[in-house]
Amino acid sequence: MLPMNVLALLRRVFEREQAYHERQQAMIGQQLTARGIADQRVLHAMTQVPRHVFVPAKMREYAYADCALPIEDGQTISQPFMVAYMLQALRLDGSERVLDVGTGSGYAAAVLSLLAAHVYTIERSPVLAGSARERLAQLGYTNISVVEGDGTEGLPEHAPFDAISVAAASPWIPRPLLSQLAHCGRLVIPVGSYDQQLLIRATCQDGEVLTEQLGKVRFVPLIGEHGWTN
Ligand code: SAM
Repeated sequence: MLPMNVLALLRRVFEREQAYHERQQAMIGQQLTARGIADQRVLHAMTQVPRHVFVPAKMREYAYADCALPIEDGQTISQPFMVAYMLQALRLDGSERVLDVGTGSGYAAAVLSLLAAHVYTIERSPVLAGSARERLAQLGYTNISVVEGDGTEGLPEHAPFDAISVAAASPWIPRPLLSQLAHCGRLVIPVGSYDQQLLIRATCQDGEVLTEQLGKVRFVPLIGEHGWTN
């Protein structure tokens, strides 16, 4: 028999998890499905990843809100819709090797890991790379490799990638990323000024790069050798 105070604590934990679950379901319906996210694999993956575990404790009650949120080191975890929109644009079937540039909290990498075979995720901030690596391991994700470094260089030692997602804004498409795309590979990246960008999907086909514009977006800067200098 468990003591009353332990039972009360367990009950509180259960109720809190239940509340997060309900908010997550509302997020899927009101923010994703209602705005046109139709890829069932993306929708399902986003029901599987506990976003509240990826945000700072004091932000948890907003974890499923329709906005980006601050995380450590002055960075952000992207708005749920933007995560879903970018991942849907990668057109994954589960067989891919994917590069995720800008690990941040590790949330998008966790969702990606349910949509692809293996995810390499790279983060320039040592603080964020370390905490994301620890969090993802604790949650039991085994097909994600977290690397600390400059994502504008890609990860040549693990290339080619079937898909590359860049969650920070660049003045242009970094050349190393294009050269690390597999045949028919897809690269999704915000390109533009510091304040406003267009989300671009670049597809490599027969040595040619086809680009499509997927809408206006606003991301934190991609800082590195082939991005912004600061
Ligand atoms: N996908 C993340 C998540 O799920 O929490 C959010 C990414 S946040 C919008 C952008 C991230 O890109 C920041 O953590 C920032 O430190 C990182 N970043 C900026 N420039 C980078 C670079 N050259 N290489 C790797 N990461 C970079």
